[in-house]
Amino acid sequence: MAKFIFVTGGVTSSLGKGIIAASLAKLLQARGLRATIQKFDPYINVDPGTLNPYEHGECYVTEDGAETDLDLGHYERFLNIHTTQANNVTTGRIYQTVINKEREGAYLGKTVQVIPHITDEIKRRMLLLGKDDKYDVVLTEIGGTVGDIESLPFIEAVRQLQWELPEEDCLVVHLTLIPYLKAAKELKTKPTQHSVKLMSENGVHPDILVCRAEEPLTNDIKRKLALFCNVKQEAVIEAADASTIYEVPLMMMREKLDLICLKRLNITNFNEPDLEKWKGFLDKLKYPKSKVTIGLIGKYIELQDAYKSILESFIHAGAINECKVQVVNVHSEFITDENVSEKLDGLDGLLVAPGFGHRGIEGKITAVKYARENGLPFFGICLGMQMAVIEFGRNVLGLENAHSTEMDEHTPHPVINMMEEQKKITLKGGTMRLGAYPCVLKEGSLAHKIYGTTEISERHRHRFEFNNDYLQQYQQEGMIASGTNPDTGLVEIMEIPSHPFFIGAQYHPELKSSVESPAPLFVHFVAATKRYNEKRTSIRNPLLHSEMI
Ligand code: GLN
Repeated sequence: MAKFIFVTGGVTSSLGKGIIAASLAKLLQARGLRATIQKFDPYINVDPGTLNPYEHGECYVTEDGAETDLDLGHYERFLNIHTTQANNVTTGRIYQTVINKEREGAYLGKTVQVIPHITDEIKRRMLLLGKDDKYDVVLTEIGGTVGDIESLPFIEAVRQLQWELPEEDCLVVHLTLIPYLKAAKELKTKPTQHSVKLMSENGVHPDILVCRAEEPLTNDIKRKLALFCNVKQEAVIEAADASTIYEVPLMMMREKLDLICLKRLNITNFNEPDLEKWKGFLDKLKYPKSKVTIGLIGKYIELQDAYKSILESFIHAGAINECKVQVVNVHSEFITDENVSEKLDGLDGLLVAPGFGHRGIEGKITAVKYARENGLPFFGICLGMQMAVIEFGRNVLGLENAHSTEMDEHTPHPVINMMEEQKKITLKGGTMRLGAYPCVLKEGSLAHKIYGTTEISERHRHRFEFNNDYLQQYQQEGMIASGTNPDTGLVEIMEIPSHPFFIGAQYHPELKSSVESPAPLFVHFVAATKRYNEKRTSIRNPLLHSEMI
C-alpha cells in the first residue's frame, strides 16, 4: 500500500496549496518514487463543470472526461502524468454516493450520518489511488481553509486515517501565512498558532508547516513557530514568493521539504533528484532571447484563472522557443469593423479562446477576419475554431448570416451545429462531449507537420461541431479539415493552407501541455508569432533589422 501525504491550508485561502502539493510530488517523482496527487473540494457541486469560471476559474478536463478543479492542471503540468475522475472529489460527489447507497438500501435500516457514513466514504476515496501498488506516495490536497464548516468532515477523515494507518504511513503538511506587519517591522506567528490550534482541536496535528511569508523567516521565528505549534524546527519550511510557479519545486528542495517527508514516512529507497529537464526549462524561461505579444480574445479575460491552462501552455511553448510570450487581453465586445486594426495593432498573433454563449461573438468574428486577411497568425480553440468557421462561411463563401445554432437557432446556414447525440440531453453537468478522442491528421497539412504524426489524441469539452454538409464548399475555397475523428468524421481541425499560420482546433490542446511536453500547437503558434514579429519590426524599423542581420 502507498504512503499518504495530506496538504491542508490555514489562515487564508489562495496561498498556493496546489502548487506546494504539486512541487512536493514533483520532488518525490524526481527522486524515483511513483507519486500522484488528488484534490478534495468541500463544495456541494458534484464537480466544477457547472461552475461559472468567474466563481472557480477554469474547468479542467482529464483524459477520462472528468470536469475537475484547475489544480489538477497544475498536477499534470508539473508531473507529466494523467489524472482521472478519481483525482478530484467534492462534498457533492461524496453525498451523492452515500445518498444513492441509502436509496439502494445498502445501510440496512441504519440512520445515515456524517460520522461514520460520510467520513467513511471520504476515507474510501482518499485511499483509492493508493491501492493496486500503482503509487508509492499519494498526496491529497484538501481544498478550503481549516476552520471552514464545510471542511470539517475532511479533517475528521484525516484524523481517523492517522489513527488507523501505521504512523509512518501518513503525514500532514499545513500551508500557512506568516503576515509581515510593516508598522511593527515584524513577521507575525499568531495566526498560524491559531490555525494549528484549530486543527488540533479537531484531532489532527500537522507534521510540517510550510510558511508563506514576504520576508525571510529568521531562526528565531522558526523556533517560535516550532515551539508553539509543536512541530520539529526543521519541519518549519519557508515558502517565499517566487517569480514563477515553476521555481517552487527547487525552492522546496532547498528547504528540504522532500527529505523531511521521506524521513518521516520512513522511505529509504530513493535517488538524488533528477531535475535536469526541469532546470533546463527554467533557464530558458528566465532568459528569453526574443519577445512576442499575443492577443487573447475571450469572455472571462478579467479573471486570469479562467484561462489558466492556456496561459501555462504559452509559458511552456515560450520557453522551448526561447521567447517571452506576453499575453494581452482583448475585449471582443468592443471590436468593430472600424476599430479592429487599431485594437489588434502591435499583436504578433491572435488566440480566440474557448467559451459559451453570445457575449462578444461578433467582435470575435471581426477579429478573426482581420487575422485571416492580414496574415496575422491565428489560433482558435474550440469556440475559437467555430468562430473561424463562421467568419470564413460569411465572408469567403458568402453564406449570409452563417452562424452556430448555439447563438442563432434559426440561422439559414448552421455551419456549426449541435452534435446529434447532444440533442436529447437535458441535464447540464458532465453531459458534453468530454475527454480524450482520437483524431486522424491529413498528410501534408500544417497540423500533420506540427504533430509529426498522423494519429493523435486530444481532450474535448463541447456540444457543437462543424456541419459536414458544408465541408466540400469550405475545402474548395481554401479552408480544409486537416483533422477528423476516425470513427464519426467529426471535424477536429480546420486550417487555411494559403495563410502563414491559421489553425483552429475543436479540442483543447492546452489541457495536455506540460513542462516536459509542451503542446505542439502552442509551440508552433509561438514560432509563427516570432516570425511575424521579426517581419513586423523589420518593416517598422528597417535600420535596426539590417544591423541585426
Ligand atoms: N460552446 C461551444 C460548444 O459547446 C464551444 C465550447 C468550448 O469552447 N469549450 O461547442
